[in-house]
Amino acid sequence: MKKILFAASEALPFAASGGLGDVIGSLPAAIKQADKDCDIRVIMPLYDKVTDKTRARMEKVLETTVELGWRKQYCGLYSLVENGVTYYFIDNEFYYRRGALYGAGDDLERFAFFCKAVVDLLPLIDFYPDYLHAHDWQAAMAVVYLKCLYGNTEKYRDIKAVFTIHNIQYQGMGDMYNMGDLLGLHEKFAPVLEFGGCMNFMKGAIVCADMVSTVSPTYANEILSPEYSHGLHPILEMCKGKLTGILNGIDREYYNPAKDCELVKNFSYMRAGGKKECKKFLQEYLNLPVKEDVPMVIMITRLVSHKGLDIVKESLYSLLEENLQFVLLGTGDYEYERFFDEAARRFPEKMRTLLKYDKELSKRIYAAGDIFLMPSLSEPCGLAQMIASRYGTVPVVRETGGLYDSIRDYGWPDGGNGFTFAPYSGMELYNAVKRAVNLYEDKAAWEKLVLKVMRYDFSWKKSAKLYIQMYERLN
Ligand code: ADP
Repeated sequence: MKKILFAASEALPFAASGGLGDVIGSLPAAIKQADKDCDIRVIMPLYDKVTDKTRARMEKVLETTVELGWRKQYCGLYSLVENGVTYYFIDNEFYYRRGALYGAGDDLERFAFFCKAVVDLLPLIDFYPDYLHAHDWQAAMAVVYLKCLYGNTEKYRDIKAVFTIHNIQYQGMGDMYNMGDLLGLHEKFAPVLEFGGCMNFMKGAIVCADMVSTVSPTYANEILSPEYSHGLHPILEMCKGKLTGILNGIDREYYNPAKDCELVKNFSYMRAGGKKECKKFLQEYLNLPVKEDVPMVIMITRLVSHKGLDIVKESLYSLLEENLQFVLLGTGDYEYERFFDEAARRFPEKMRTLLKYDKELSKRIYAAGDIFLMPSLSEPCGLAQMIASRYGTVPVVRETGGLYDSIRDYGWPDGGNGFTFAPYSGMELYNAVKRAVNLYEDKAAWEKLVLKVMRYDFSWKKSAKLYIQMYERLN
């Protein structure tokens, strides 16, 4: 029986800020589904965001002290079972009672503590996995601690480490001088973590892991070049032999318009009529003109530059001259929040900007939209275009990373499953949206495309098997 432990900083439905949460909330169950005999568990921090209802389902596993450098910190461990997968939660209110998952001045310490706890707790829960699978910079130090501190220790020695890059932009960087004080690592390990004069958690994990993966084949290629690597290409080039790309999937039950209780009316590709009611409901809810024939363009995104917001800014006012409505749900950089808020104020008949993170509302918007815009500058995989497809909202995407691997242009010989463009410019974005809007006017052709998009299989089925094959290659 395979034993796998995922270490990650977020997982749906407990606490999430983006696609990582979706993946950690659904991939373990998909792996379990594909290999019934495996024991897969997940470990994450217990944030204050985790609801009382969820906490009521938890069982206290243990209480201990974890050492991080000179610190000796309280560490509680709770667990619950979700979809056949055991989720562990590391409790320390000083680190995780912060109102938000990330963005604190001491994030490096918060997540170094998490990683140290992950490796230190294994004997206490008597679970030595065959594969420790860490995700993104927040969990990267678990791989480094495993290999540097415990690599020669009995039972730890047999654990294979896998590190998955969900987004290379965030690497967990700090001052090298803090390495000993912050991480409690001897200076002989400096070459593992040092990169460009800084301490770099992600670099450490890439170097130490037995296998490195990222979340789409195209992104696995892209990050070998300086354009996409945020500086790490020399390290990845060196580790190319152990780098692979596996496309993410989505949880088709969690995102299921036929059953989703957030929607006023459920629908499916067999009975797609309910989508019209969802649109009408959202128009009423947002106080937009209730017009079935006007295409609704939606965006649901973190408001950060790599999501392509600069070219949306370039083209938005031209787009708003067209016969369409535009709804944006997102939070992030102040500059973008202010711009989109202002645009909604200037075009009250056409645009709404909702500056918040709201999972329930996001599903109502996915269901109501006609066109989903995702013009990312870079996109490791992207889940939002898959979720939008599931809810019958046709993606318009830029050809990069996982967007390139998941969406084909309508102009392709088989008709494609969305609209795509390559050059990063406002004009190209405008033209791609305009092509979608033009097709929307041809009712029969549009409906055919919507049904095709809804039927597209973005489940985990194929990719879960690829993960299992990846683990097996390490034996
Ligand atoms: P990333 O992980 O880079 O943010 P992805 O497309 O992989 O991008 O995943 C984004 C996930 O976060 C999707 O599930 C999307 O619906 C969700 N999301 C993004 N912004 C919001 C928001 N403001 N409210 C609710 N859900 C959001």
